[in-house]
Amino acid sequence: MKGIVYHGERDVRVETLPDPTPLDARGAVVKIERTAICGSDLHLYHGNMPLENPKGFTLGHEFVGEVVEVGSEVKLRRPGDRVIVSGVIGCGDCPPCVRGEVVRCLANATQVFGTTEHLDGGQAEAAAVPVADHCLTPIPDGISLEQAVLLTDILPTGFYGAKLAGIEPGDTVVVIGAGPVGIQALLSAQLFGPAQVFQVDRVPERLALAEKLGAIPVHVDHAEARIAEATDGQGADCVIEAVGLDATILSAIGLVRTGGNVAVVGVSMSSALPFPMNAAFMKQLTFRTGLVPVPELWPALIPLVASGRLNPEVVFSHQMGLSEGAEAYRAFDARENGVMKILLDPSR
Ligand code: NAD
Ligand code: ZN
Repeated sequence: MKGIVYHGERDVRVETLPDPTPLDARGAVVKIERTAICGSDLHLYHGNMPLENPKGFTLGHEFVGEVVEVGSEVKLRRPGDRVIVSGVIGCGDCPPCVRGEVVRCLANATQVFGTTEHLDGGQAEAAAVPVADHCLTPIPDGISLEQAVLLTDILPTGFYGAKLAGIEPGDTVVVIGAGPVGIQALLSAQLFGPAQVFQVDRVPERLALAEKLGAIPVHVDHAEARIAEATDGQGADCVIEAVGLDATILSAIGLVRTGGNVAVVGVSMSSALPFPMNAAFMKQLTFRTGLVPVPELWPALIPLVASGRLNPEVVFSHQMGLSEGAEAYRAFDARENGVMKILLDPSR
């Protein structure tokens, strides 16, 4: 089969790989119908992952498709099932995992597909999926393949940000970042009844999409003044950070009002963030962050998408074949030709 393999900084290659088999009796193999590239994959693309094995590993944690093989202990899924795969998984056994809270796995078995050499990902024609009963859910009627792909990671991430931000009806919300995750955070924030959502970025097409979806677009250079003006100088009730830079995390803390909530879902690789304790202390700040517990959020999100209430697919700007994977990474990283998010078709 073909897959997109990570070899190091800006070096991803479409290669022919052995066909996967179930990893153990609880595993399954999924033939992939659609996959996508995430902003998180760019952290790897920028060279943040030293490789122990020169063969590299298959990238990708956003993929959906058909179950083609199951191990002897898989009870809930059968070959022929069309499934959404959780991009984040746990041991599948402990009480938090059973509740879908895979990031709180008591066995410390939380993993993200396609981000390390320990678990190959799904930017490929097929993938081996551990603990199939826990990390796969059927694609219900009314959910398209594009929507299903977004349910593997970034819609849950945006929704998680909105939940962590504790939005109440009537609140003023700021979403920092209007990338694919920031847009999912906007759509999710709107479910909680805010009076207004400001979306901060510097890319004109991204701000235009946010505006079309109901946000008030704000260029990053004007964010502080614009939010102060809109809140009588008090600051926003809730800020969701969806970028992952020291500067944007600090800006989130700066933009929130006294007693407000900051939720950071951008992935920060920084171990040296100069956390402004004084401001946090004086603001009685609530600061929450975390990797997204995807399966925990499916019971809320799948019906919202199936019913047409949430339309996360607005973020897809381009479709390409998996065989064009290296070019897709380059274009996505360069944000070339208005690239927002690329859907990859493994049959091409
Ligand atoms: P992206 O890179 O496409 O989008 C980031 C956006 O931030 C871009 O539009 C960029 O222009 C904007 N930006 C950059 N600097 C800015 C600044 N100073 N102020 C305002 N905006 C700025 O990435 P994405 O796919 O949208 O993902 C966003 C983040 O979410 C990434 O860090 C990704 O790793 C993370 N993520 C987290 C989880 C999780 O579980 N918490 C899951 C998926 C993705
Ligand atoms: Zn567990």
